[in-house]
Amino acid sequence: MPSLNSNLQELAGVGEKTSKLLKKLGLNTVLDLIFYLPFRYQEYKESDSLAELETGENVKIEGELVLIKGRRGKRKGLWITEAIISNGIEDLKVIWFNQPYISKTLKPGDRLVLSGKIGASYGQPTMMSPEYERINPQTQTRKEGAKSKEDFQPVYRLTEGHLSQKKLRQMIKKVIPLSSSIPEWLPSEINEKLNLIPLNEALIKIHFPENESDILEAKRRLAFSNLFLRQLKSQSIKSSLKKRNAPPIEFKEKETQDFVNSLPFKLTNDQKKTAWEILKDLEKNKAMSRLLEGDVGSGKTLVVAIAMLNTALNKKKAALMVPSEILASQHFKTISKLLENYDISVALKTRSYKINDYKKADIIIGTQSLIQNKANIKNLGLVVVDEQHRFGVNQRKKIIDLNKDKDDLPHFLSLSATPIPRSLSLALYGDLDFSLINELPVGRKVTTTKVLKEKDRDSCYDFIKEKIDLGQQAFFVYPLVSASDKMSLKSVKEEYDNIANDIFRDYKVGLIHGKIKKDEKEKIMNDFADKKIDILMATTVIEVGINVPNATLILIEGAERFGLSQLHQLRGRVNRSDKESFCFLFPSKDDLKNEKTLERLKALEDNHKGIDLAKIDLDLRGSGEVFGSIQSGFLDLGALSLFSLETIKRSQKFAQKIIEDDEYLDKHPVIKDKLKNLDRDFHLE
Ligand code: ADP
Ligand code: MG
Repeated sequence: MPSLNSNLQELAGVGEKTSKLLKKLGLNTVLDLIFYLPFRYQEYKESDSLAELETGENVKIEGELVLIKGRRGKRKGLWITEAIISNGIEDLKVIWFNQPYISKTLKPGDRLVLSGKIGASYGQPTMMSPEYERINPQTQTRKEGAKSKEDFQPVYRLTEGHLSQKKLRQMIKKVIPLSSSIPEWLPSEINEKLNLIPLNEALIKIHFPENESDILEAKRRLAFSNLFLRQLKSQSIKSSLKKRNAPPIEFKEKETQDFVNSLPFKLTNDQKKTAWEILKDLEKNKAMSRLLEGDVGSGKTLVVAIAMLNTALNKKKAALMVPSEILASQHFKTISKLLENYDISVALKTRSYKINDYKKADIIIGTQSLIQNKANIKNLGLVVVDEQHRFGVNQRKKIIDLNKDKDDLPHFLSLSATPIPRSLSLALYGDLDFSLINELPVGRKVTTTKVLKEKDRDSCYDFIKEKIDLGQQAFFVYPLVSASDKMSLKSVKEEYDNIANDIFRDYKVGLIHGKIKKDEKEKIMNDFADKKIDILMATTVIEVGINVPNATLILIEGAERFGLSQLHQLRGRVNRSDKESFCFLFPSKDDLKNEKTLERLKALEDNHKGIDLAKIDLDLRGSGEVFGSIQSGFLDLGALSLFSLETIKRSQKFAQKIIEDDEYLDKHPVIKDKLKNLDRDFHLE
């Protein structure tokens, strides 16, 4: 008898081949299999009639097999199995492709339940490659026993190979009784308050729902336990941080005032407010953990500069970590310039660039290489992470740990331009305090955005030429670096010839992508910033943070390949001054198969706030696409919509209570156990 920890290979019917395929899916044990959840359900309408079926319908029917035969198809290698099924009154034709064993398994006279899609063959309604189940008419008919269970057929993600949905379902069916021995871990108070079903019931219902409400109940329960785990994790981080000291950074009021007055513009109210919130936190002797959120172009860098200035004036070091080398060197320049009148040294440290000695500098700007190489920065007072959604949660801990010589933790600030709905931010970053910049500097207009077709291309190019003639600059963005034969997507190398040597031959065109050498990359970016280049052709290396205020035009090819939030980020490159700016989106084909895709892109024409676009993206594409890979596998954020903000807040409080109450944990060993496992991948020492 297998147990939860049994290797799947121990199950009857699982040979080496199958177990290899299962491993590819990350499934090793029975427990893994039970927690392998379907990603959707195929709904079949039950039909008693075999005659009134319409093309495109998904139906489930029952009948007797009257005829079955296999033959070779006209195309080489194609095998066709044709059959007739009858309910005693009407007949229906059935076809399977390339499953030669079917005509050996099924015999005329067999009673079958078939679930599949109705197509047409020679104008006649035909069931195409249905799933089949043989039933024994004496003991079981669809009307009783097997009834309706498979009206919602779960569909699992499978790798290529010969593991079928049917086989996987059968395996799960065999082991699902073992789910009763998986201990419940959610506190019963929560289960009751939120009306959640027990864990084992949820596992059975998610795999074998009898109706739609089974699916909903199960999803809700399983989504909640994921959310709650995440919250426990956040709260445990928060509580360990609370126990650690941080160096208090005194607010240097006069110097800060002077700095602000020296700027060529006035700070926005939100910049002042958020800078104030941060400075107040820095004064405490407990580490700040704060998220500064503000749309692209809202001026987060300045708020950071103010925090860094104060840190440096307190004789502590500040580090800024960013997701790309280009961005790092840009920030290096901006910050150096902003602080040029102070006795503050700034260093740049990335894999390819090293400017000034970071060990001696007051402010260090770098990429991941700061933590990868375990740079030892003494006397660290503040760590800032730009575009923090690009970094994983666990990386944060490593950044904090850069300060090795002391027990003190540095204060921590992360920046994000991906505004997210409140419920989501609470779920994702429950351990962070929030500061929000909700306005753009005065004078900013919205970027005029157009989704274009091929016929518009010439006039679009003419328009761009006119603007460049007036001294402005353009980005052209492409989804790939080099041509791939599979996709007809324009790639930046291929198009370079076309743009630089033909259409825009009278202009200066630069090319930049991830594979270009560092020195050249640097030079091209500098040339672009110095207006020596009119058009910069690029992949999404320019996506985050790049700031060239004179660039007012952006043209994006293969636009449907990007998420809305990503397109908004890209568009943010050209709305960085008071000049009028334009964004042109070309889908890779005029006639995109999916109407929705075009609709999605059109959302950019009318929406100019990151938060609105993030919501639309979330609804249309699911969270994974919007927030990158950090959350994948840990929490299906799409499922968050199942809970109200109230519920999320309430469970947050509950998680906090659990973490801070040792007695509670002693009484609930299952939770304690879960937390221990959490600690394993998130250790603070
Ligand atoms: P982001 O929030 O996207 O990081 P940046 O900090 O790069 O934005 O700022 C975008 C541009 O806006 C920069 O050129 C910056 O100098 C400018 N800027 C920042 N704050 C203001 C302000 N209060 N008024 C006018 N321009 C500003
Ligand atoms: Mg920025």
